[in-house]
Amino acid sequence: MKRSLALVGIAATAAIVLAGCSGTRGGGGDAGSSGDKPASDFTVGVAMPTQQSERWIADGDNVKKTLEEMGYKVDLQYANDDIPTQVSQIENMVSTGADALIVASIDGTTLTDVLQQAADEDIPVIAYDRLINGTENVDYYTTFDNYQVGVQQATSLLTGLGVLDESGKDTGVAGPLNIEVFAGSPDDNNAKFFWDGAMDTLKPYLDKGVLTIPSGQTGFEQAAILRWLPETAQKRMENILTVIGATKLDGVLSPYDGLSIGIISALTSGGYAASDLPVVTGQDAEAGSVKSIIAGEQYSTIFKDTRELGKVAAEMVDAILKGDEPEVNDTETYDNGKKVVPSYLLESVIVTKDNYESVLVESGYYTEDDLK
Ligand code: BGC
Repeated sequence: MKRSLALVGIAATAAIVLAGCSGTRGGGGDAGSSGDKPASDFTVGVAMPTQQSERWIADGDNVKKTLEEMGYKVDLQYANDDIPTQVSQIENMVSTGADALIVASIDGTTLTDVLQQAADEDIPVIAYDRLINGTENVDYYTTFDNYQVGVQQATSLLTGLGVLDESGKDTGVAGPLNIEVFAGSPDDNNAKFFWDGAMDTLKPYLDKGVLTIPSGQTGFEQAAILRWLPETAQKRMENILTVIGATKLDGVLSPYDGLSIGIISALTSGGYAASDLPVVTGQDAEAGSVKSIIAGEQYSTIFKDTRELGKVAAEMVDAILKGDEPEVNDTETYDNGKKVVPSYLLESVIVTKDNYESVLVESGYYTEDDLK
């Protein structure tokens, strides 16, 4: 189904895709001529944000493994969530002769100069999971449907609260139920998509008074957690508990498992029993958080199969280096301020205690042991 969607996308947008495609280094200028060289002649630079989160370790591993299986050499670097480190890692990849770049940015607006250097060397660039903003020099983008991730987060919150039943039908609960809302890092382009998907889904219930936000902190800027730091989320949750006093919370919208860990720890030190926590959402199905879901603490997460994302990114690079066109299935959503970047979007899945085995274990993403 995804592939046929992709083909429709390609047919409709071949012109845009062609226009957006960089030449390939050492390709001799002729589209297709680089296909004559073996993959082992090419090095792909892979820039990842941080090893502080399991998700990005899995992403780096999967991209590297897939490219190496295709025969490519891989230069994989993590930047410890430090912007200058990421810029200098990419500069280094360019100057040491990378033939293509896959970049998961820390701040999507800080790579303009270094990607100009890449463009000057005809190095194609794939934005990985996070859009790179404000530059012409990004050829393709692969990610999950980020707005839909936010919709899923809010939907699972509503299900956990009993406002929706398992089939997604409104149960008629009158409320008011008390929730607080968190957003991701404001310099990550995805954060606003998650927020919009979630808040659009919650809005009708906030408007009707089924849900209320007792702190009154309802804006993205108030809810955003710079650099997705768990300790910042923990502090914000502690402050909110002080502000709302004795009011008991029923749910917390959290856009990332790491933030959920900080939020849950603020809630437990603020007096909530581990067995009586509000419904807390998440994202990424990180092993520690899946364990928390199994233990009945965190309520839900969103699974984004990094094996699939790594594969799409590697296939994009492979196609470009062979002089072919990568598959895309979205040419409208991701405008980076300079161009609409042709994208391939994957689908994410809501995970709770009820389906983690089928989604995460039976698919081979985790073993039972990983989750003990
Ligand atoms: C990713 C999320 C992740 C977050 C924090 C976002 O860009 O799309 O999957 O939870 O960064 O690492």
